Amino acid sequence: MKKSLKKLFGLLVSVLVLIGSTRAQEEVIIESSDLGSGVYMLKGQGGNIGVFAGEDGVFMIDDQFAPLSEKIKAAVAEISDKPIKFLINTHWHFDHTGGNENFSNSGSVIVAHENVRKRMSTDQLMQTFNREVKASPKVALPVVTFDQQVGFHLNNDYINVMHVANAHTDGDVIIFFEQANVIHMGDTFFNGTYPFIDVGSGGSLKGIIDAAEKALLIANNETDIIPGHGPLATISDLKKYHKIMSDIHMQFTTLKKKGMSDEDIKAEGITLDYDEELGNGFIGPEKFIEILLSESKAPQATGKIIKPDHTNLHDKGAGQSAHKH
Ligand SMILES: [Zn+2]
Repeated sequence: MKKSLKKLFGLLVSVLVLIGSTRAQEEVIIESSDLGSGVYMLKGQGGNIGVFAGEDGVFMIDDQFAPLSEKIKAAVAEISDKPIKFLINTHWHFDHTGGNENFSNSGSVIVAHENVRKRMSTDQLMQTFNREVKASPKVALPVVTFDQQVGFHLNNDYINVMHVANAHTDGDVIIFFEQANVIHMGDTFFNGTYPFIDVGSGGSLKGIIDAAEKALLIANNETDIIPGHGPLATISDLKKYHKIMSDIHMQFTTLKKKGMSDEDIKAEGITLDYDEELGNGFIGPEKFIEILLSESKAPQATGKIIKPDHTNLHDKGAGQSAHKH
């Protein structure tokens, strides 16, 4: 009796949570900002969307959650009456790929790094939150995949989609619109908060730093930088983020080399100087240090090649994508 009551309660809670999140998504407003030269940043719920519109059609980056697809389509229709030809996923997480099925069904070609397709094809465990994510249906999977780089010649611009190894996950890309001078960083950049690094999906702080370095080589003072989460950024925001992440990485590595225990490392307060600025987001300072500790025990910390857990679909290529540039 007690057990079944508990079960009922559990069910009730999950139904309420579900209603809550559907309600929340009903209330979400998709805000669109015009960055010039045909590029727009869309904010709603989940990862920031990039839209590039012109005579050849619409090119879109990420698609948030499935219940928002109609609103996102309406926001894109305000920008252009052309179809969304290509949809890029910056990585596999559901707050960036949740709408894939809907966009695929309305004719968009989904493009992503090979590891995005691999991870979306099989059940995943997000270790940091102990959250299981079910495999996506075939219709939601990227149909064009690549290992290092892919370019799009569209709307009189060149869009350079570049893989960055083991950063937020093992399938991240940063995307540069050469003429428009806009970079979309995916979740390699959280503007204004500590980043979530999905260690279980092959992410690492060193990779986050390298991704920022790569973008800083491309960016100039006029570049608009779209972060995965947070407000639109400039080169100075990204420089600051790079500096902070590098400092935390250096301090953490030094403490690790001294052979300090996890508890002692936590007590050192290596993020204290930055907590006021970055500590109020989805990943708080303590969680951030816990992520770094888990990373120091994960295979990517040893520089070993990482493959997604279930690579039965297409086994070649994942190894190459993990090498350092
Ligand atoms: Zn993510």
